Amino acid sequence: MAKPKPPVQKNQTVELTFEDLTHEGDGVGKIDGYPLFVPYGLPGEKATVKVVKVKKNFGFGKLLDLHEKNPERVDPPCNVFFQCGGCQIQHMSYDMQLKMKQKQVKDAMRKIGHLEHVPVHQVRGMKDPWRYRNKVQMPVGERDGRLVAGFYQKRSHNIIDMDTCVVQDESNDRMVEAVRRIAERYGVRSYDEENNRGVLRHIMVRTGQNTKDVMVVLVTRTKKLPNQDEIIDEIRDAFPSVKSIVQNVNPKRTNVVLGDDTKVLYGEEYIYDTIGDINFAISPESFYQVNPTQTKTLYDQALEYAALSGKEQVIDAYCGIGTISLFLARNARKVYGVEVVPEAVADAKANAKLNHIENAEFYVGQAEKVMPWWKSQGLNPDVIVVDPPRKGCDEQLLQSMLDMNPERIVYVSCNPSTLARDLRILEDGGYETKEIQPVDMFPQTSHVECVSWLEKK
Ligand code: SAH
Repeated sequence: MAKPKPPVQKNQTVELTFEDLTHEGDGVGKIDGYPLFVPYGLPGEKATVKVVKVKKNFGFGKLLDLHEKNPERVDPPCNVFFQCGGCQIQHMSYDMQLKMKQKQVKDAMRKIGHLEHVPVHQVRGMKDPWRYRNKVQMPVGERDGRLVAGFYQKRSHNIIDMDTCVVQDESNDRMVEAVRRIAERYGVRSYDEENNRGVLRHIMVRTGQNTKDVMVVLVTRTKKLPNQDEIIDEIRDAFPSVKSIVQNVNPKRTNVVLGDDTKVLYGEEYIYDTIGDINFAISPESFYQVNPTQTKTLYDQALEYAALSGKEQVIDAYCGIGTISLFLARNARKVYGVEVVPEAVADAKANAKLNHIENAEFYVGQAEKVMPWWKSQGLNPDVIVVDPPRKGCDEQLLQSMLDMNPERIVYVSCNPSTLARDLRILEDGGYETKEIQPVDMFPQTSHVECVSWLEKK
C-alpha cells in the first residue's frame, strides 16, 4: 500500500504539541501521525511551528511561538545558544538533561538490543555543569576590518563573534580574546577560506584543569607569522601562566584544523595535566579527554566494574593515549593496550614512563587484527575493556573477545545505539550485561557516555 502524502507542506505554519524528544534533544510533535522534529521544543509544550523541510516519513520545523511551557525549560545562559551548533540542550534544566540521557540509553537498550532487563542507572552528572571543557579551537575571520574569533554558525561557515563560551574553562576564553586582540593590533590578517589567502586560521588553547598550565596554538596558513616576537611577548605579558606557545602551519585548503608542521615559539612542546593520580603530557596534536573531571568519574566506574585484585591480565582495546590502561595498570598484573593511531600509542608509552608504570604494553594496530594474534600467542586475558569510537566495535573484535572468553568485559561507549547492538551480540555469545552506568561527560550537549559491566554466564 502506498504511503499517504505528508499532511503538511513546506513553509506552512502549524499548531503543534510536543510529545517526545529525539536523541539530539529536538522536540517531536505529530500532525495526523506524521512526526515533525523541531529544535528547542520540549515535551508537553504547545507551539506555533513553521514547517521548513518535508520528507516522506517525517519533517522538520522551526519554533515560532511558544504557548505553553514545560516547567523544566530554562533561559540558556549563553547569548548565542540559538545560533551556535556547539550545545543543543541549554534550554533544559540540568535535571531534565540527565533524565533525557538516561531515557536515551534505556530506549536504545530496549529497541535495539532487546535488553530491557538490564538496569540503566541514573546518569552521573556534574556538580557544576559549566566551564568544563579544557580545549578550544576557534576559527578566525574578519568583519568590518576587525578580527573575530568564534564558533561557526550551525550548518555554515559564518563565524559568530562571541566573547565567552560558557562551557569552556575561563582561561581558554580569556586567552582566545587576548590573542585575537594582540593579533589585530599587529595587523595579522585572518585566513580567507575562499581564496586560500591570509595568515591566522585558528586559535587553539588547552588548559590543564588541575595544573592550570596553558598552551596556545596559533594555526597559520603561512610559515611566517608577521611580528612573531612582539606577539609572543605580548601573549606572555597578558598571561604569565602560559607554559607553551606553539605555531602550527596548515597551508592546505581543508576543514581539518591542524597541519603537519608544528614549531614551539615559547616554552615547551607539552603541558601537563592529571586525572586522579596519573600525569599526562599533552601536545597540540594529542587526543586528550576534554572533561577530565567526568573522565575520572567514568574511569573510576570502569575500574570498579573491572574488579581487579592485582593478579589479572587485562586487554584495553581502542586504548587511545592509554588513559584507561594506566588507570587499570595500578591494580592489574599486566595491561595490554591496542590502538590504531601511532601517535596516540607513542603518547601512551610516554605517559606510562612519566608515571613509572612498567606493567602496561602498547601496540599499534587494528584491535580486531591484533586480538586474534594475541590469542594465537597464548594470551588469555581475565578482563577485556573496550572504548570504541561512535561506530562501535568491529564484529571481528566482538568475536575475538568471545573466543578469548574472559571472566569479565567492561564496555565504555559514547554511542548508546551501537552499544546496544554490540551488547546483544555479546549476550548471544554467552555474556550477561549486569548493569550500565551512564556518565555526563558533555553537559549542555546531547551526548552521553556509558560504562557497561558484563560477566561470563
Ligand atoms: N580510551 C581512550 C579513547 C578511546 S577513543 C582514551 O581515553 O584515550 C577511541 C579510540 O579508538 C581512538 O583513539 C581511535 O583512534 C581508536 N580506534 C578506532 N578504530 C580502531 C581500531 N579498529 N583498532 C584500534 N583502535 C581504533
